[in-house]
Amino acid sequence: MTPDVRDRLDRPPRVYADTAQPASSPVPESAWRRAVQLISQTDDIALACHVSPDGDALGSMLAVGFVLRSMGKRVAASFGDQDFTVPRLLRFVPGQEMLVPPADYPAEPDLMITFDSPSIGRLGLLGESVRQAHQLIVIDHHPSNDGFGTLDLIDPGAPATAILAEQLIYRLGGTLDRDIATCLYAGLVTDTGSFRHSSTTPAAHEMAARLVATGLHPDEIARELWDRSPFGYLKVLAAALDRVVLDDGLVWTYVTRVDRAAQGLPYSELEGLIDVVRRTDEAEVAAVLKEDDQGAWQVSTRSKGRVDVAAVCAALGGGGHHNAAGFTSHDSVEETVAKFRELLREA
Ligand code: AMP
Ligand code: MN
Ligand code: MN
Repeated sequence: MTPDVRDRLDRPPRVYADTAQPASSPVPESAWRRAVQLISQTDDIALACHVSPDGDALGSMLAVGFVLRSMGKRVAASFGDQDFTVPRLLRFVPGQEMLVPPADYPAEPDLMITFDSPSIGRLGLLGESVRQAHQLIVIDHHPSNDGFGTLDLIDPGAPATAILAEQLIYRLGGTLDRDIATCLYAGLVTDTGSFRHSSTTPAAHEMAARLVATGLHPDEIARELWDRSPFGYLKVLAAALDRVVLDDGLVWTYVTRVDRAAQGLPYSELEGLIDVVRRTDEAEVAAVLKEDDQGAWQVSTRSKGRVDVAAVCAALGGGGHHNAAGFTSHDSVEETVAKFRELLREA
């Protein structure tokens, strides 16, 4: 190899050329400037994302964590689950050495930044730290987020929180390396369903181009997220599909913790089940009831567009997006479905 060629390979990709900057956002430039100012003047920064983190929550948080660390900040990142474990399908996301369990999380952070969480409630055990934080930056894309921070960076039109995380990184003067890009890509492809959902924008594809240019491996990330599972998942899937119900435009099924225990399957392995169920042509809305380890029903719902499932789930104490939302129920399967169906009819 000639020195000339090696020189070119070693050079970091030019990710922020004039023609390839993050798209503009409805967040005012003054708010971004305030965020950069708050971060610049604080040495210890606490990051948090919503409970049962998905790729967007964990990836956005850790991407920003990397950049803050490179600025010399001390970073503590967490999510407020009783059972503090990163789901198997997100173990590939870099930066997990920044994670601390809720018990070791700052009780009164100077500056706290939350990612992908529409409310204090969705921060679980970290809720008290949110209330005590001296400064609180909320970075999110949920339409239901009415701004619980001292500074809100919220864009309900963004397909993922990762889009906003990249905009913050850009304004902090950060550079995209492969680790940061892998974190952001995990968020982007999770929330756009690999660029299949209606939320997919030109900005999402443009961002993907910048991320892939850092040398990350889209094939490996896709396999980790969607194309592998323990054998026991197939057995649980079979049981769930065996009792699936199609009734008046709603297709639904459920998985109990007994189903999972029989296969030694963790709750987090059920994330992809809704994507199998929602393909039903005859249904406008799909729902999967998943019993968690505490015995509560975590309900995933999806719409093809005509019905706003976020509104229906909000009426049941949950939330989410127009086409993808959820809620928690402590009733029986039958009662839970009956209540959901009743609200669907009214919607
Ligand atoms: P999921 O079905 O878990 O993929 O979640 C789909 C969407 O619904 C995500 O945007 C979640 O933030 C939201 N969501 C899911 N469960 C809940 C809940 N219990 N409360 C509020 N929002 C939820
Ligand atoms: Mn999320
Ligand atoms: Mn999200």
